[in-house]
Amino acid sequence: MSAKIIDGKEAARQIKEQLSAEAAAFRQAGNPVRLVAVQVGHDDASKYYTTMQARQAQATGIDYELVELPEASSQTDVIGHILKLNADKTVSGLILQMPLPKHINAAAAQLAISPDKDVEGMHPENLGRLLTGAGLVAPCTPMAAMELLRRACPDLSGKRAVVVGRSTIVGKPIAMMLLQMDISATVTVCHSRTKDLAGQTRQAEVLIAATGLSQSNWRRYQQQKAAGKAAALPDLSPLISADMVAEGAIVIDVATNYIPAGFDEAGEPLKDERGEIALKSVGDVDFEGAMRRASAITPVPGGVGPVTVAMLLKNTIACAKAAR
Ligand code: NDP
Repeated sequence: MSAKIIDGKEAARQIKEQLSAEAAAFRQAGNPVRLVAVQVGHDDASKYYTTMQARQAQATGIDYELVELPEASSQTDVIGHILKLNADKTVSGLILQMPLPKHINAAAAQLAISPDKDVEGMHPENLGRLLTGAGLVAPCTPMAAMELLRRACPDLSGKRAVVVGRSTIVGKPIAMMLLQMDISATVTVCHSRTKDLAGQTRQAEVLIAATGLSQSNWRRYQQQKAAGKAAALPDLSPLISADMVAEGAIVIDVATNYIPAGFDEAGEPLKDERGEIALKSVGDVDFEGAMRRASAITPVPGGVGPVTVAMLLKNTIACAKAAR
């Protein structure tokens, strides 16, 4: 068997086309659709994300504004800004870019975002609504995983689903979504203490992997080395090997692990032309091996990632409509 590749880029294109039409109709009726991102201080990765958000929001017909606050902003300054944006009726959705400077309590600042403008779907009130099945918005990455899963298998009723990872932003919301009445999968959630992970995943008709374990192992190794501690090169092989995938399973790989592209004979990571460690992005699943067993699978990159941004835009339009 060779699995069908679930194309996240194409799915994202189709979703954004639909959202553009929705946003245009909404704006024509005189309503604002505006997404505001707040960034405190400078962070290269954050800069990359905000540039991408701006481009994609604007291409979908959503106004985008980046509010840049100085690195030295206090907790009160940041929360004050968020409260002002909460009260601004022209703002449909709000994102607080991570990471924040160390002196800011990120959880408290994020909690200040109104649940009605919480386009990342991370406010406890929105997570609670997800539990009751009546949410306006939900976390973007779980939404993206579900979107791709439903495209691969529209009827998930009664299917045995195994979610590997139980974080509040990815694993748990995906499990909740799979349990919703209109989906009704039978769900098992695995984590680092799960005994016989392979025994669980081999039962899965739907396998969702969201651990990021290889990258965590790589980061820990680098930190140990930087601290001058002796550390053996970690195991960077995929957590989910081919033999852990059931024949015919649908596999959604949520993870993005940035790990070295290769090692030289001395065991040192290969460098790129700038002299930096050359990285590649891979998921939690052995893609090539799983291709031979699964019926459908998301690639990394090009699977869940592109759809996640589309879900952010979807949440923004949902918040704008609800505020009308
Ligand atoms: P976390 O580190 O918060 O959670 C990782 C989870 O994996 C934990 O529940 C942990 O278990 C579990 N885990 C770790 N090791 C194992 C193991 N050996 N066996 C089984 N489970 C294990 O990560 P996130 O949830 O934030 O992210 C997960 C992945 O999703 C990452 O690769 C991240 O990059 C990706 N991601 C992708 C996004 C996208 O847009 N595509 C957005 C957000 C995340 P325990 O709870 O016991 O520690």
